[in-house]
Amino acid sequence: MQNRPITFSIKTRSTKSHARVGTIETPHGVIQTPAFIPVGTKATVKGITPEMVKDLGADSMLANTYHLYLQPGDEIIKAHGGLGKFMNYDGPTWTDSGGFQAFSLGVALGKNITKFTSSARPGYDEISLKGSGHKVESENALLPAKVDEDGVMFRSIIDGSAHYFTPKKSIEIQQNIGADIIFAFDECTSPHEPVEYQKRSLDRTHRWALESLKTHVENTEAFSKQALFGIIQGGRHEDLRKESAKFISELSYNGIEFDGFGIGGSFAKEDMITAVHWVNSILPENKPRHLLGIGEPSDIIKGVMEGCDTFDCVMPTRNARTGTVFVNDSADTFSYVNLNLKNAKYKDDLGPIEWGCECYTCKRYTRAYMNHLYKAGEMLAGTLATIHNLHFMAKFMEKVRGEIVAGNL
Ligand SMILES: [Zn+2]
Repeated sequence: MQNRPITFSIKTRSTKSHARVGTIETPHGVIQTPAFIPVGTKATVKGITPEMVKDLGADSMLANTYHLYLQPGDEIIKAHGGLGKFMNYDGPTWTDSGGFQAFSLGVALGKNITKFTSSARPGYDEISLKGSGHKVESENALLPAKVDEDGVMFRSIIDGSAHYFTPKKSIEIQQNIGADIIFAFDECTSPHEPVEYQKRSLDRTHRWALESLKTHVENTEAFSKQALFGIIQGGRHEDLRKESAKFISELSYNGIEFDGFGIGGSFAKEDMITAVHWVNSILPENKPRHLLGIGEPSDIIKGVMEGCDTFDCVMPTRNARTGTVFVNDSADTFSYVNLNLKNAKYKDDLGPIEWGCECYTCKRYTRAYMNHLYKAGEMLAGTLATIHNLHFMAKFMEKVRGEIVAGNL
């Protein structure tokens, strides 16, 4: 086995669930797991500096390949010496592969299908594109992404220009961006697609996984610096999920396997943990497992108990910008509520966002001030709330790790 840029070590295993506490050592520092990874879609967690991300207790950051490829372009990021240098962040970094955008800009567009999908069959008129801040009107809009056997045709959300992503292209872009951990190119499917489509798509994702691995292994310089995770798909079907976990975990090129795994897919809320359970019953214990696009604390707990190690999501930071903050609401270790600071009932509230919270925002500002900032459309609202929510997530993950070690989770 070659020397790899990351080392995953499990320190404690729960006796009550599949949860584990460990570390991922990377060339840019250590990630304590289970970990929540804030998303900086365009090489910035909106509204705060990279130093603040670090000070708030997040060990790493994830950026989106699709967005950085379109703007400013991966070559200019490479010219800076990679993503970390580009955004002046010296901690561990991740990039996704663009596969999720193939989904959110393709089949999911106009159908109200995102990371979580209602169990009812969708029919709808508007969808937000993940991380883009754009909303596209539905049915008659030209689909900006189309999947074929070799890759995905994207239409730029910026200027409408056409781009074709193959697994090779996705990996080459991610090599230029230079994050510590990168992902194979995959197709994320809607849970509403029939099983025949899920099978065809899974075959494609598996072929693309090999192509991704081959491309990475053959670039010896990038391969020595960046870990590559394979992605498991398979929709809501037990046989397909297990087949995918087996295929991806055993896949090798020149004797080299993936360094870790991402569990992908769009889920009906009630299906998510079942699918994760199937997959993790097959994946090897000794490699890290990342649950893609999941960030609601209650979902993270479920994922942790099924043996997932890392999680990324725009939700805690996006919610902060639109007024929603997490608040501990009782003595229960993991209990919390989502509180909307724009609500008129906070306009006279002289308390902090969360009593007892040690974050910069809660030590200095009242709910009434936050309510005023949102009402007035002030930029500071998003910054202060993002600080609180990321602090909350870091503390939450610290509690998760502590409770596993204490034998309570
Ligand atoms: Zn706070």
